[in-house]
Amino acid sequence: MGVIKNIQGYELLDSRGNPTVYVEVETSSGAKGFGYAPSGASTGKREAVELRDGGKRYGGMGVLKCLEALNNRVKPALLGQELEPALIDSILEQVDGTRNFSSIGANTSTAVSIACHRAKAQEEGIELYQLFLKEKLVLPTPMFNIINGGKHAGNALAIQEFMIVPHASSFSEALRIGVEVYHTLKNLLKETKGAFSINVGDEGGFAPPFTKTREALDVLRLAVKRSGYTESEVMFAIDCAASSFYRNGFYEIDQEKKNADELLEYYERLASEYPLISIEDPFYEDDWESFCAITKALRKTRIVGDDLLVSDSSNLKKASEIGACNGVIVKVNQVGTVSRALNTVKSAKNLGYLAIISHRSGESVDDFISHFASGLSTGAIKSGAPARGERVCKYNRLLLIEAREKGALFNGINSIKV
Ligand code: PEP
Ligand code: MG
Repeated sequence: MGVIKNIQGYELLDSRGNPTVYVEVETSSGAKGFGYAPSGASTGKREAVELRDGGKRYGGMGVLKCLEALNNRVKPALLGQELEPALIDSILEQVDGTRNFSSIGANTSTAVSIACHRAKAQEEGIELYQLFLKEKLVLPTPMFNIINGGKHAGNALAIQEFMIVPHASSFSEALRIGVEVYHTLKNLLKETKGAFSINVGDEGGFAPPFTKTREALDVLRLAVKRSGYTESEVMFAIDCAASSFYRNGFYEIDQEKKNADELLEYYERLASEYPLISIEDPFYEDDWESFCAITKALRKTRIVGDDLLVSDSSNLKKASEIGACNGVIVKVNQVGTVSRALNTVKSAKNLGYLAIISHRSGESVDDFISHFASGLSTGAIKSGAPARGERVCKYNRLLLIEAREKGALFNGINSIKV
């Protein structure tokens, strides 16, 4: 087995035109791996911390401090180490010395961790997803974010993501349906709202000048129908990212102020009017009580914690003890290493939670999440709209994994249904 011979970091750009950390690693046996750090806009306050330079350069978003930490602290600790990803991730924790990677930056640790996992797969002569594969492979059900709002768009929609979840017997069929509905929606928006309405947000979904949640859900409904599908063939999911419209005890949504009880009633009405299979972050990130209330109230809709749980297995444990949600978003950079994210996926499986592997709104062409989601058979993946290079590279990777793994299973909507 090889040892780590070199690690090199670079300041590259992400999909929003902000600097990001890119790392390449090479072993003595010649294996190579790379990794990019993604970046969120609607970040949870308990997430692992991104290190940014501040100052004038790149509007303060530069990552030269990360490269400095990589060269002066991470590299000396890792050179000569065996390429054992769990060991490397624990060394990253030791070198950093904080719980949330606030010293070397979770953007540094994430890129190193992903790069080392890739190199490990190459060293073993296997595909990256096979590194995680322990049982029969189940391809993840894609959740396509085709209307953007909240912090990802310049419109007045409070809710951040309006997703469609196609039911199908294979990943490729679900992707095709998602693409068909996406294009129908584009035509529909253009016809009814004009050309400005087909501009896209950070995750490739359209960002029409809507102000009300129902406007978005209604046009999705029409797009599904016009594409020739029923509402049991293409269901809806939303990511409210409610922390971003919570102010002084109230939720500012649809030009109204609602308290938590009123918002819960609102979600109940939406779930009875639309085929809403999943609701992510319906309340702000400290309101565990309301998460419990909605999980109890909406028995047929999955309630997913993102900012609430920040991919952390101890938060997940708390959620399961009190009955807050039944699904968890898993983003590697929320915890800073692949090993920690892996641990969260394992806990989710043990606790009966659906783990949804997710991209960030600031992305790159790194398709790591597709390998992670399929190798671990997590059940679902979010990678935005089926458009824009940094989003489709994840879906394209899943197509290639499906083509290679002939016997792979796919459960469609059933993996998300409660
Ligand atoms: C999300 O909230 O699920 C998301 C992907 O957005 P961001 O990366 O901005 O946190
Ligand atoms: Mg979210």
